[in-house]
Amino acid sequence: MKCRYSRCIFGGGDIEPGTEVEVSKGRYMHSECARYNSAIKQIIKLYTESIDETIAIPVLRNVINKIVFDRKTDPEFLLFVLRRAISNKVPIKAPYGLYYLVKDQDAIDTWNKKKVQKIIKAIPLAEQKTPQDYKYTPVSPKTLLTITEGL
Ligand SMILES: [Zn+2]
Repeated sequence: MKCRYSRCIFGGGDIEPGTEVEVSKGRYMHSECARYNSAIKQIIKLYTESIDETIAIPVLRNVINKIVFDRKTDPEFLLFVLRRAISNKVPIKAPYGLYYLVKDQDAIDTWNKKKVQKIIKAIPLAEQKTPQDYKYTPVSPKTLLTITEGL
């Protein structure tokens, strides 16, 4: 099965069976490509709704593509910095402003911290336990006696 993402990050290659994501009816993508596709759509939506509704989409898309594909920036990070800029009321006068947002060291640090927390959360709770939690409590002979007595 071929990936239908026009900018397939795996070069448009075949999708390993069982790992494909159906983005619309009969349209499949690599799960990573689907993630890129969805994040970029959200960036465009957010930009047009919150920053400039008259922006020419091809211009905006061009800047996003340069940041994501040429400069290898995770589109979810771009979405994160854009949301952050909007809530912090950072003025963005043109799509080129996005280049500066992804270079913001504070944003990078916050993103990295968030990512680490996400990884920790993804680890099953049992594996997060400290060794003390597993301290072996031997059953006292008295308890054993009670159990046998009950038989
Ligand atoms: Zn793909």
